[in-house]
Amino acid sequence: MRITVLAGGIGGARFLRGVRAARPTDDITAIINTGDDVTLHGLRICPDLDSVMYTLADAHDHERGWGRQQESWRIKEELAAYGAEPSWFGLGDLDIATHLVRIRMLDAGYPLSDVTAALCERWQPGVRMLPMTDQRCETHVIVELDGQRKAIHFQEWWILHRASLPAQSFVQVGLEQAVPAPGVIEAITGADVVLIAPSNPVVSIGTILGLPDIRAAIAEGPAPVIGLSPIIGGAPVRGMADSCLPAIGVEVSAEGVGRHYGSRKDGGLLDGWLIHDTDSATVPGVEVRAVPLYMSDDEHSAAMVRSALELAR
Ligand code: GDP
Ligand code: CA
Repeated sequence: MRITVLAGGIGGARFLRGVRAARPTDDITAIINTGDDVTLHGLRICPDLDSVMYTLADAHDHERGWGRQQESWRIKEELAAYGAEPSWFGLGDLDIATHLVRIRMLDAGYPLSDVTAALCERWQPGVRMLPMTDQRCETHVIVELDGQRKAIHFQEWWILHRASLPAQSFVQVGLEQAVPAPGVIEAITGADVVLIAPSNPVVSIGTILGLPDIRAAIAEGPAPVIGLSPIIGGAPVRGMADSCLPAIGVEVSAEGVGRHYGSRKDGGLLDGWLIHDTDSATVPGVEVRAVPLYMSDDEHSAAMVRSALELAR
């Protein structure tokens, strides 16, 4: 079976571990958000690609949720000693090696999709990892800062400001020039099922769907599309998704996100929507099912995947 998953970083990564555990012999492709990407200290940083790669390789830090386990921070301290900004973004010593390999390949002219494939040769994630696009298409957040309306990079908003400045809107800078990376559209139109991971609906899934060709391929493709709610009991399970949804006028609830994705019967994305078993939701034109949605370990995540595949049938 060919399974294609839209994914952000940490939520996407945990979910993909579940897909791999539930369907070890299937052909799994992950289309991963690159809207969080940023260039800092001369390095191209791809947080969601790296979260997925390290997590699937069991090389991730479980506590922190991002980056490498057994990491050290000597280079970060040295950069701070030089006063080299930004000091708010953490890149560990081990992680920097990944970034040196990435930037060297990008500078040599390789597209991000090839670089990702090359990095995955080492990490063997067991899932085909595709960046949503090879072009730069970076999410910016419109905020009020120092009495002025400003667009700041998503990372600055998320990490430096801890998403505490009210977001007025999100803008994908570079979207007009961006096209899906090689293999992305084929992975959607050739899939037996498309799964929308319980990732941030705005800045992870919303950014991927910002590419019109990807959105159309999912909305009009032959495969059933099943989404899983990242919102349980009116709040995100981890992270700060509750500071993103209001900016796009979506209620922070499983029903709100389900309705935001909408039914494929009327131009939306979903055939089925999985919500947590203590939640309830009605999404017109979409079959909603309530099952446990906490990804506390691979077995729980795998059970969610099995529920999604049952709903797809
Ligand atoms: P990021 O890019 O690292 O922020 O990660 P994602 O966008 O992939 O995932 C973030 C989302 O995952 C958040 O909105 C969380 O609510 C959701 N999430 C994290 N853990 C769980 C879980 O155990 N169950 C569910 N249903 N959602 C989760
Ligand atoms: Ca992310």
